[in-house]
Amino acid sequence: MAPTKDQIRERLAAIAAPGGMKLTDSGALSDIVVTDGKVFFSLSVDAGQVKAWEPVRREVEEAVKAMPGVRSAMIALTAERAGGKAAPPPPARAPHAHGAPAGPAGVPGVKSIIAVASGKGGVGKSTTSINLALALRDLGLKVGVLDADIYGPSMPKLLAIREKPQTIGGTRLKPISRYGLAVMSIGFLIEEETPMIWRGPMVMSALTQMLREVEWGELDIMVVDMPPGTGDAQLTMAQQVPLAGAVIVSTPQDLALIDARRGVAMFKRVNVPILGVIENMSYFVCAHCGTRSDIFGHGGAEHEADRLKVPFLGAVPLDMIIRETSDTGLPVVATRPDGPHAKVYRAIAERLRDALAGPGAGRAAPIIVIEA
Ligand code: ADP
Repeated sequence: MAPTKDQIRERLAAIAAPGGMKLTDSGALSDIVVTDGKVFFSLSVDAGQVKAWEPVRREVEEAVKAMPGVRSAMIALTAERAGGKAAPPPPARAPHAHGAPAGPAGVPGVKSIIAVASGKGGVGKSTTSINLALALRDLGLKVGVLDADIYGPSMPKLLAIREKPQTIGGTRLKPISRYGLAVMSIGFLIEEETPMIWRGPMVMSALTQMLREVEWGELDIMVVDMPPGTGDAQLTMAQQVPLAGAVIVSTPQDLALIDARRGVAMFKRVNVPILGVIENMSYFVCAHCGTRSDIFGHGGAEHEADRLKVPFLGAVPLDMIIRETSDTGLPVVATRPDGPHAKVYRAIAERLRDALAGPGAGRAAPIIVIEA
């Protein structure tokens, strides 16, 4: 039997906040969420006190994990300033030279981190992320996937993963290995139905934990499936992760392109180079007769990429097989490696790899500098 909120509070009353006050009297404790033996809550503290609180956060997490009936505990430390708003994101990074990251600390062992983003949901960003990751794997690279969509994680479904990550030494998590990829998603730790009532700062903290408290091992590329949209949360997230660059997924429709433009602008604001745009659901190939139809006016994203002076990485067709494989947890690049779809993704992966390794494109140097 999982403990109740009150039982957890009672346990926390025995832990001291920095300065000696009872944790439960410190005002830092958020509501406690217990679902199916998994416990979540946050400690909201002043931005200047985060360091002092980190050992407390660890102590709290250990204490909660040790309670009978607790299967996992995720305790987020969130820095808040007055007015309940998230702490300001760190200053934008200046583009910097190879091997000398000036922004947030990198993830040990991980050479390049790329974000796959979209201006809005439903454009196939997650489907593209996983197939791109698999295609990069096919090029002989060691690849990890971080599902950063805390509110709507896709990787459990896209990869049909139902197991829980194992812990190492009680504090660090082992990513789940699937099709040769190291994968981590908040969806592995919580049930699909869990209401995601977390506020922005908690989301940030969960992301930081998934980056830094997971044994990613040696990776050439980590593909981060970003949450859709271009709000402050995404912006902050883009700044939390030391990104080598971003890939924008867009459908050909005008509206999506407007959104994609916002995506480009967002990364530009934080000096993250745009590695390129992928047009998804670009054209339709009839499964029966093989006829290709440009039902959405194919070419829009390519044209837009040109206009924005960002590289165009390729077009992925709208195809039943991509949808079916994606929705049944059998991504097409993994399950039909010799088919035409895998070929399309691999061509995109090659262009992406070249963009990352291209002349003058150091680990985090910009490929393209967009004029203001
Ligand atoms: P997002 O991450 O942008 O919300 P998803 O990757 O979840 O989008 O895709 C949304 C839906 O579109 C899913 O049902 C997925 O299978 C489908 N889909 C994505 N890309 C394609 C494609 N190229 N052809 C057909 N269906 C696709």
